[in-house]
Amino acid sequence: MEDCLFCKIISGDIPAEKVYEDEYVLAFKDINPSAPIHVLVVPKIHIQDVNNINEENVIYVSKIFEAIKEVAKICNIYDTGYRVISNCGKDGRQEVPHLHFHILGGKKLS
Ligand code: 5GP
Ligand code: ZN
Repeated sequence: MEDCLFCKIISGDIPAEKVYEDEYVLAFKDINPSAPIHVLVVPKIHIQDVNNINEENVIYVSKIFEAIKEVAKICNIYDTGYRVISNCGKDGRQEVPHLHFHILGGKKLS
């Protein structure tokens, strides 16, 4: 997707602070963190949102959840706990239309 911000981060056209990467998944620090640890985990193919997960691409979602555990270990929040959020659509206030999961931690969240 030419105009997608997160596709550009995946291709390296826009820089990001990478936390974890494998064949399916990229995780990078959110540019405007809302917790001491705020990492975004995205599939390396363009999937717009949760509504667009299907039988063909669902492998990326299971890889994302495996990656989330790795990110939690890397960021030292595996044992203290964290929150995983995916916003979808207008009412969900999704700003970037490329499926992503926020990992929030590093403090007791409200
Ligand atoms: P959404 O509201 O779509 O669920 O979340 C989008 C997230 O992407 C926001 O938390 C925002 O701070 C983050 N973000 C927006 N632009 C950039 C960027 O260029 N780089 C990084 N690392 N994060 C971004
Ligand atoms: Zn994209």
